[in-house]
Amino acid sequence: MNKLLIVGSVAFDAIETPFGKTDKILGGAAPYIGLSASFFNLQSAIVSVVGDDFPQEYLDLLTARNIDISGLEVVKGGKTFFWSGLYHNDLNSRDTLATELNVLGDFQPKVPQNFKNADVVMLGNLHPLVQSSVLDQMESKPKLVVLDTMNFWMDCALPELLDVMKRIDVITINDEEARQLSGEYSLVKAAAKIHEMGPEYVVIKKGEHGALLFHKKEVFFAPALPLEEVFDPTGAGDTFAGGFAGFITQSENISFENMKNAVIYGSNLASFSVEKFGTERMVNLDKEEVVSRLQQFKSLTQFDIEL
Ligand code: AMP
Repeated sequence: MNKLLIVGSVAFDAIETPFGKTDKILGGAAPYIGLSASFFNLQSAIVSVVGDDFPQEYLDLLTARNIDISGLEVVKGGKTFFWSGLYHNDLNSRDTLATELNVLGDFQPKVPQNFKNADVVMLGNLHPLVQSSVLDQMESKPKLVVLDTMNFWMDCALPELLDVMKRIDVITINDEEARQLSGEYSLVKAAAKIHEMGPEYVVIKKGEHGALLFHKKEVFFAPALPLEEVFDPTGAGDTFAGGFAGFITQSENISFENMKNAVIYGSNLASFSVEKFGTERMVNLDKEEVVSRLQQFKSLTQFDIEL
């Protein structure tokens, strides 16, 4: 089985949307990525850190999905990273109310020995120096390195982010962040500028408006499924990234054509994630539901115009 190495925050999240409020639930990029990638035939491991306030039940939830957590350090007496967000009525924009790095502040990642030859590395949202350090520890060159980041790191660690971007193949980023990083309003121009910063493939996520995959002059668009119920968009980007990286890991094919399918899988899995608060929907999701929703994606985008 192919191996997927996942790096990213593991967090307590407190979320408020127009539909309700939660207090300190399981969050962070890595759990969303790991849960999403667990729908593929692969071996995965998470490299991250938590404090000893992190409940065993959350760890069990990850291991129940066959995610290796030997690289998830537990710091004695430490406090787990805490993030809090408030969504506006359109659910496409949010205010960050708190980012308490806690144990993430001076985290030194340690890649488990048996994942130093991972086929795909998914560098989830974390300090770019941590993302770089994970790449430094790899003993063989991964077939694909995917990086996700956010405005927080652009604001406080831009030079380090630009350095790690030179070492990756794919970046997944949302539209606002792509504009911030490139200084371009047009997403086509933004993708071209980001491409010059390193990654050969640029995926721009547009929330409920889908995602764009750019590669040189080619572009592909994956819609987001119009959903009846959207409760909480938190982690949608990470779930997307997990689906994208998971599908590529399983299929061992890094062509642009196959990446189109990866983008569809990412959108598909993200469409479930937003239906409940936090990771709840992903934890209770089964493979049949994932496959049957793929059919909806097909019907949504297929048309037959004669040219
Ligand atoms: P997304 O909605 O895909 O942007 O991801 C939200 C997740 O990212 C939440 O579960 C947060 O815990 C996590 N998160 C928020 N800010 C940061 C940060 N600065 N570094 C790492 N993870 C973060």
